[in-house]
Amino acid sequence: MEIRLSFKMYKRFLTLLILTLLLTFPLPPAASAQTGEAVYIVQAGDTLYYIASRFNVTLDALIAANPEVNPNFLSPGQRLVIPGLNFNGVLETEVISLGDSLRSLSRRTQVADEQLIQLNRLVSPSELYVGVSVILPVQDGQTQYNTPMSVENGESLLEAAVRQGSDPWTLTFINKLSGTWDALPNDVLYSPNQNGGSAAGLPPAFLSASITPLPLIQGGTEVIRVQVRDGYSVTGTLVDRPLRFFSVNSEQVALQGIHALLETGAYPLRLEAVAPDGTRQSFEQMVLVTSGNYYSETLYVDPATIDPAVTEPENQQISSVTSIVSNTKYWNGIFSSPAVYPDQYTSLYGTRRTYIGSNSDLTIDGFHTGLDFAGGEGLQIFAPAPGQVVFAGLLPVRGYATIIDHGWGVYSGFWHQSVIYVKPGDFVEQGQVIGLVGGTGRVTGAHLHWEVWVNGVQVNPLDWLRQAYP
Ligand SMILES: [Zn+2]
Repeated sequence: MEIRLSFKMYKRFLTLLILTLLLTFPLPPAASAQTGEAVYIVQAGDTLYYIASRFNVTLDALIAANPEVNPNFLSPGQRLVIPGLNFNGVLETEVISLGDSLRSLSRRTQVADEQLIQLNRLVSPSELYVGVSVILPVQDGQTQYNTPMSVENGESLLEAAVRQGSDPWTLTFINKLSGTWDALPNDVLYSPNQNGGSAAGLPPAFLSASITPLPLIQGGTEVIRVQVRDGYSVTGTLVDRPLRFFSVNSEQVALQGIHALLETGAYPLRLEAVAPDGTRQSFEQMVLVTSGNYYSETLYVDPATIDPAVTEPENQQISSVTSIVSNTKYWNGIFSSPAVYPDQYTSLYGTRRTYIGSNSDLTIDGFHTGLDFAGGEGLQIFAPAPGQVVFAGLLPVRGYATIIDHGWGVYSGFWHQSVIYVKPGDFVEQGQVIGLVGGTGRVTGAHLHWEVWVNGVQVNPLDWLRQAYP
């Protein structure tokens, strides 16, 4: 099995092949012949659905394998049988983060990569995208190594070990290297000591890099944090969108919305550190985008309001306003609800919508780009966060509309108003009344529609009411 795998992925696994041949730890050959039970110990906050998704089994299969378990009442410490795995013992799961690979995971947990490949049914190690949940055996009494390190360009393992307060022979053993000559620059190694170095798996200009939350979700807001060595600047792209980084203390922070209609799957995150002399060190890894589990609905509307001749110029106008990125961050902390009835929603963000023009052939597919609040005509609308008004006017589809720039590429839009109290250029405070609810534009009744843009993409506004960014 080892030889077939190594041959198949010859280039990528040349080192592993050498390791396997030289170290020859006699692995139990019958790992796949075991017929025991794979068990997961329920942790606080777990649900059956969440456990099933992490182990990549269906909810029905998980329930069927555990007939004595009440699906509505899980308690921490309970043992669940995970069906379909040829494994005898206790398992846990972990989400792959930036810089992780099969090799780094194997080194840190000291679980053989053959076992990781088998447990996770991997065809190729490149399937371990950032955000993917991996299954790991729990090894009682086995030391784990949590201090990642890399050998830098031009550095020997001895030099790296000295920098890390360790020695090259310990590092060779922990990291399953075939010898002290075997460590490659930027390869993720683990050290038994706690000294900081450059970020594991990243080029030496990067001290750290992270993306949260994981996995990425359609309509979500991602925070990318990078620390680089003095003098370097950072650029990058996520999916196909250029990131905009801003300095916060010693970090560079970028916010990026994930489009609600982006197909689920793996997409590249690319980061680049630029030295003062213009030389670049770049890094790319695939990240997993998962479904937002949004509903679908069909709406019958006045065909004039879905005529592309009307909607396209208006969409262009809105996206040109919201694509400007201000360097000042006006907001601080969590957003407040813009509505009088703050948590009464009549339509959530992300719902897939088919608009059909009444008595016409016109059909438009899209999604609900914001959050609709209950309560009609004449109710007050509050600014959810400080910012500068950049648009206030009447539009055919959105009706009387206001757009607030909160800075760093974050915008709020308020549609279908009856009255607007602010004008472009005004600065508004959090909670300030900016207008009144109405039923102007493409609506079936008076309501407040609020949407949030993050670096050119409409995101789920509820996220901004529930947590502080960045
Ligand atoms: Zn709406």
